Amino acid sequence: MDSGVSLQVNKINAIPKLFFAEAACHGFLPAWSCTNLPEMFTTPETLARLAAFPTISADSNETLIRYAVSRITAAGGRIHTMAGAQPGKFNLLASFGPDTGAGLVLSGHSDVVPVQGQDWQTAPFTLTQKDDRLYARGASDMKGFLAAMLTAAERMESKRLRRPLHLAFSYDEEIGCIGVRNLLLQLRAENFQAQGCIIGEPTEMRVVTGHKGKLAGCICCRGIPAHSANPASGATPSTSPPRWCGRPRRCNPGLPPMARGI
Ligand SMILES: [Zn+2]
Repeated sequence: MDSGVSLQVNKINAIPKLFFAEAACHGFLPAWSCTNLPEMFTTPETLARLAAFPTISADSNETLIRYAVSRITAAGGRIHTMAGAQPGKFNLLASFGPDTGAGLVLSGHSDVVPVQGQDWQTAPFTLTQKDDRLYARGASDMKGFLAAMLTAAERMESKRLRRPLHLAFSYDEEIGCIGVRNLLLQLRAENFQAQGCIIGEPTEMRVVTGHKGKLAGCICCRGIPAHSANPASGATPSTSPPRWCGRPRRCNPGLPPMARGI
């Protein structure tokens, strides 16, 4: 979800450096790989490009994916674009370094939530700096991380990577994580292996290693049709679901107390 529209300038500049340091610590990169960086797009410059694509979930993300492909191709990355089930929607997996073995995945979604009816003080699809913050729709959630992914990958010395580094761009996260499901299905069919994944959702610069999950079920109740004014003449299904409502709590007594009135 889009919990904020701004990103502090100093933090977004710091992300590639942090990534290099972390990657070196975990054996993905030699410690000296981030030295002698060539002049390239900075992360804020890249974010300005990405923010200009109005990739609201209802619309196509093709322009952003094409831009990412051009940057990654120029940097020597391998491209794997996957058309989504919906027209105009694309997932992208880009890979650097060796093409065997399990590597690290940096993952982000390319879509943003709408802007209609909102009181924006700046143009939502033009990255605007005010004091030490950058404003645009999706600057924080999560084109800032996409920009950091791209700039970090461009600064890699791919030939010296010991394991693959993958960049994953998905679509339509904001309306139910639709795109990443197709991405995962396709990668599973291709027997894709990864050692880990860093998902750049905003967490106020804290590392978050877990997230709440969800289990959805479907209950089918059958009954004998009867008017609700005369319940004795039928077995109305409306009396059955309440018996199920307490069942998850009996299965998991560790659930927190319910709010009053529920
Ligand atoms: Zn998000």
